[in-house]
Amino acid sequence: MTTPALPQPALPAPSPAVNPETREFWAATADGRLLLKRCLDCGGMIWYPRAICPDCASLRTEWVEAAGRGRIYSYTVNHRGEGAYQGSPPFVLAYVELDEGPRMMTNIVGADPAELAVGLRVEVVFHDTGDGCALPRFQPLRQ
Ligand SMILES: [Zn+2]
Repeated sequence: MTTPALPQPALPAPSPAVNPETREFWAATADGRLLLKRCLDCGGMIWYPRAICPDCASLRTEWVEAAGRGRIYSYTVNHRGEGAYQGSPPFVLAYVELDEGPRMMTNIVGADPAELAVGLRVEVVFHDTGDGCALPRFQPLRQ
């Protein structure tokens, strides 16, 4: 006789720290849109969202909507969460390289960690924090 698996609690979705430079980014997440900044002077994509281009120090930037797809650049399975993640089942921390170029730290969800690999194609999903924001996380790209 085997013991039935316990239901897996959902990964927590703690509220982000919103500031004037990230307010528009977080507002868009509530609509299921992933925004990036692009520099109008050097053309570079900027991550994380901020007012000044880290490559050329230009203040001329614009928001652009990312396609929400990329690939796993690196990942690890975390077995001991802290803060809001304390007591969570093992979860995946990852860097996802977006098709637009930037690499963002995030979680991979909706997949057995044993199925993951560097280079795996992923797409964004949004997890509501309950306060007008949603956390962009990624799941394996389903064709
Ligand atoms: Zn620039």
